[in-house]
Amino acid sequence: MAQISVPFLDLKQINAPYQAALKQACADVVDSGWYIRGSFDERFERAFADYCGVAHGVGVGNGLDALTLMLRAEIELGRLRKGDEILVPSNTYIATVLAVSAVGLVPVLVEPDEKSYNMDTARLNSACSSKTRGILVVHLYGRLADMNAICQFAKSRNLLVFEDCAQAHGAELECDSACGKQRMRAGSFGDAAAYSFYPTKNLGALGDAGMVLTNDAELADVVRALANYGSRKKYVNDYKGVNSRLDEMQAALLLQKLPHLDSVNERRRQIAARYVNEIHNPLITLPEIPVNPKEHVWHVFTIRLQSESARDAFVKYLENRGIGTLIFYPIPPHLQKAYAGEVGTLPAAGELPIAESMAKTVISIPMNQVLTDEQVTQVVEALNEFSC
Ligand SMILES: *Cc1c(COP(=O)(O)O)cnc(C)c1O
Repeated sequence: MAQISVPFLDLKQINAPYQAALKQACADVVDSGWYIRGSFDERFERAFADYCGVAHGVGVGNGLDALTLMLRAEIELGRLRKGDEILVPSNTYIATVLAVSAVGLVPVLVEPDEKSYNMDTARLNSACSSKTRGILVVHLYGRLADMNAICQFAKSRNLLVFEDCAQAHGAELECDSACGKQRMRAGSFGDAAAYSFYPTKNLGALGDAGMVLTNDAELADVVRALANYGSRKKYVNDYKGVNSRLDEMQAALLLQKLPHLDSVNERRRQIAARYVNEIHNPLITLPEIPVNPKEHVWHVFTIRLQSESARDAFVKYLENRGIGTLIFYPIPPHLQKAYAGEVGTLPAAGELPIAESMAKTVISIPMNQVLTDEQVTQVVEALNEFSC
């Protein structure tokens, strides 16, 4: 077969199937004469909260702000206090950790389970101190964390549960009775959840956008005020808020894309199944498909090599074959310069060996709904032919 190139992600192609609807949505916003927090925002908040099975959605400027404002609202409501400890996965994107430290809470990093890449629930107990007040779960790479275990643990310790859903749009759990419901989607498990609609996410805007979801009307009200200069009524400021509102253009575009999210995720699951079934190379560790495949929406397909040098060779090898790769993430949060020198906050180098080893060995291969079967075959063949 002739070699075809497989870019890691091509956003123009991702949005091409909706081109006409997106252009019409833009025109509708232009014609409306109302550009921030209007009827498109309201409709998208309703539609996305309904989709996730949550009572309230508050559109904000981006995913980091969604995380930050959700936590800050809990502080404003007196349910969290500065200095409280929040458990966070050690191998997450730095946004999760930044949100916690930005509002004066203390991130306590918990190592992941090496099979699921999600927070290892067996480590929750020893990570807790007398100051622990909450868990901020991340459904990393698109796979739901073990929410039954996490919710149960949180309940036993009276901890708040927050979800960073930036990679898990639409991931769903068939629930046991502990959750009281049959099917639950990412964002509906805890006290509040944060979503990002950054363009590369499974549901991506054409710019920045985010949302806080919660069943708590009071919390939603405070988030909405905080995101609007701390104001509920024009020129009356109840908090020292920020400006982080969802704009009408992004809301209108997201409204067009939301109805396609389930089929986008289904196509990603098909591709993941092919990768898992067809890639056979002892040098490559593949991710696991959950027993209930709907728990994973495959935001990225992340594999592991045996060493950093093997990964370097692998990246070059695929580059030569026209196949894109990306590392999620090459430097774990506790080793970032941003947190250097803050003694007593994040662990030092060497103290989180799993996150550190993952950062050296993980690599993500092309995974998105516009990959053709031929492109998937190309990737499979390349991986099967890789040797060190
Ligand atoms: C993308 C992402 C964010 C941040 O979202 P932005 O919209 O870029 O601010 C937060 N957490 C995780 C896990 C993400 O992948």
